[in-house]
Amino acid sequence: MKSGRFVWYMFAGAILGILVGAFLPNISVKFKFIGTMFLNALKLVVLPLIAVSISNAFFGFGNLKSIGKLGGYSFAYYLLTTSVAVGVGMLVAFLISPGKGSEIFTAQVIVKPKEFNLEEFVVNLVPPNIFKALVDFNVLGVIFAVILFSMAGVSSKNERIVPLLKELEEILLKMTKWIISLAPVGVFALISSKVGESGGARAIVPLFNSLTEYIFCVLLALLVHFFILSALCFFLGKTNPFRILKTVKDALLTAFATASSSATLPITMERTSRTGVSQNVLNFVLPVGATVNMDGTALYEAIAGIFIANAYGIELGTLQYVAIFLTAILAAVGAAGIPEAGLVTMVLVLQSAGLPVSGIGIILAVDWFLDRCRTTVNVWGDVVGCTVVHRMLESLTSKIPPARL
Ligand code: ASP
Repeated sequence: MKSGRFVWYMFAGAILGILVGAFLPNISVKFKFIGTMFLNALKLVVLPLIAVSISNAFFGFGNLKSIGKLGGYSFAYYLLTTSVAVGVGMLVAFLISPGKGSEIFTAQVIVKPKEFNLEEFVVNLVPPNIFKALVDFNVLGVIFAVILFSMAGVSSKNERIVPLLKELEEILLKMTKWIISLAPVGVFALISSKVGESGGARAIVPLFNSLTEYIFCVLLALLVHFFILSALCFFLGKTNPFRILKTVKDALLTAFATASSSATLPITMERTSRTGVSQNVLNFVLPVGATVNMDGTALYEAIAGIFIANAYGIELGTLQYVAIFLTAILAAVGAAGIPEAGLVTMVLVLQSAGLPVSGIGIILAVDWFLDRCRTTVNVWGDVVGCTVVHRMLESLTSKIPPARL
């Protein structure tokens, strides 16, 4: 299928999904099973793809020194852009002061949020059992195991495994291509059933009206950060962001439809491999970035924290702002690449700033929508990261043959 025409199918799926969900909510929820099957198909390839692609990246670089550089530049990029994202979020929230003087507090729903345990999160980075890590979808645990395995393989020069890994990657990407060809239908089903489940236009419009300022704030900050990332693509990645955007737009639409960076990963990898960045770079930056690098989530954590403080009429001091800044970064890193994971790690932000955790109840109702928007920016951040890290490693990547796709 021509890729130019394909993106129109994707857009048509998304728009039709919104319309059918908004005006025929009872019918649209019946499509949920199609969306779930599409999501399942994506999840099916995610973990094997992560394992195989990170190994391929490491064997591609071939020595621990180069791998160290790859890891160093990638993490520097993740940290820089996540911090900038939180800064953007805080600035926008500071300027707009969403929720100040509102009645939202009295209208809040009391919820008991799911616990986010930082210690458990850190301990789970080292899984005691690889099969359990796979079954639990403990992506960071799997990444740790794969990194250890690949570093051992590279350092002991056991390279006979490389052709097998390459074959596996090609097969997995072929599977991904098949799944992508069904994406317009999957996107339609996911969006229409979600909008329908939320009650369609009749229920959503009043909801959005009550939280307009907050929603506006998050969307504005996401837009600003999207442009900042595009500028980084241009200045640091020395690549035309429009060209990259054009190549990966299906991945961004899928991110919007699935609200999951991890589920979108196979499509992100397949599309980014067409942009010209080194396959070995994207094989590392994208899988790790999908779980660790979440700019959209980071800025949303900060805005939500400030919004909740405003809604409760709590004046934030400098120390509390610093606490929000630092924990928003942590919360974004800690959030899994799955729907509404940011809502769980937000407990960390609220607790650190001494804000009432039950404030999450105020923003819960619109989170399914904002989640989709921030996931789109999360994925864009990972794609831009590939161009930047590729450029930083130019002297190394030029020696790496392009992928055989
Ligand atoms: N859904 C987001 C993602 O997968 C994470 C979050 O912010 O909830 O990227």
